[in-house]
Amino acid sequence: MNHPKPRVIFSRCLGFEHCRYNGNIIQEDAVEHLKPYVEIETVCPEVEIDLGVPRDPIRLVGDPSDPRLVQPTTGLDVTDRMRDYADDRLGQLAAPDGFVLKFGSPSCGPREVKCYVNEKKGAASTKTHGMFGGAVIERFPNAAVEDEGRLKNFDIRQHFLTRLFTQARFRGLRQAASMARLVGFHAQHKLLLMAYNQTRMRALGRIVANPDKQPLDHLLGLYAEGLRVALAKAPRRVSAINVLMHALGYVSDELSSAEKAFFLDSLEQYRNGHVPLSVPTSLMRSWIIRFDVDYLADQAYFEPYPQDLVEVLDSGKGRRL
Ligand code: SF4
Repeated sequence: MNHPKPRVIFSRCLGFEHCRYNGNIIQEDAVEHLKPYVEIETVCPEVEIDLGVPRDPIRLVGDPSDPRLVQPTTGLDVTDRMRDYADDRLGQLAAPDGFVLKFGSPSCGPREVKCYVNEKKGAASTKTHGMFGGAVIERFPNAAVEDEGRLKNFDIRQHFLTRLFTQARFRGLRQAASMARLVGFHAQHKLLLMAYNQTRMRALGRIVANPDKQPLDHLLGLYAEGLRVALAKAPRRVSAINVLMHALGYVSDELSSAEKAFFLDSLEQYRNGHVPLSVPTSLMRSWIIRFDVDYLADQAYFEPYPQDLVEVLDSGKGRRL
């Protein structure tokens, strides 16, 4: 499988620069492991609006649906500066495939960021988006956006990586597009799309069938948007199991009953959340190689992103997608 590098925007304090308010830098294995496989761009909204390093911390206060961004020790209100910055900076980005943003930051945090009732120490808080992180989600509603904390979880990371690399493959196709390549892309992603969203898979199939003889550029635009929407929500476990059962049909004649039972047991363990999806998927991959099943070997489902990225240790925490 060909894996062009996705374009990913990172919070700069995630292993790039000592730009945290206290001059620190954050090292996170899941982020470090990803870096060699992607095109990198970094942002540090707080430094880029001239708050400097080190700086006194800032926080979100007020109405969580329309908070202010303030520095309690100085009384400085940087809400408008941050909003203007986010607008300009995000407008300069050329079709990013995804973002990895700092968990919990009042600026970068994409979700679950504390918003306080007021500037006073210890004031009660609710949760909202960071001011820059929220602007990212608003401007790129179908981009893959995660924080480094959630990426420790295997299921979340798998979904994130699948979106990133599938979108990057499609961008690669668009650079030398032809009708035949679009048809090939759709065929190669059939099982992946089946796992993600069967309704969207069929809609994408209709775009590729092109009954109204639309020009290729128009089809590519429609397909790109449809693909982003199809991949927006992680597959349900039952859909992933259905795809693997479908694949089993291609190899089952060659398997012993003990091998089939072992596979079905691993599916059951995956269904119950006891093992990650990679366990039954790796088993199936070994049979695809052993029995030389060309149709399945070509399917992106079995290698949606570089195999080396599967190796990072799982946090073991079953956070929800
Ligand atoms: S969380 Fe964002 S604003 Fe804060 S230091 Fe990191 S990159 Fe800069």
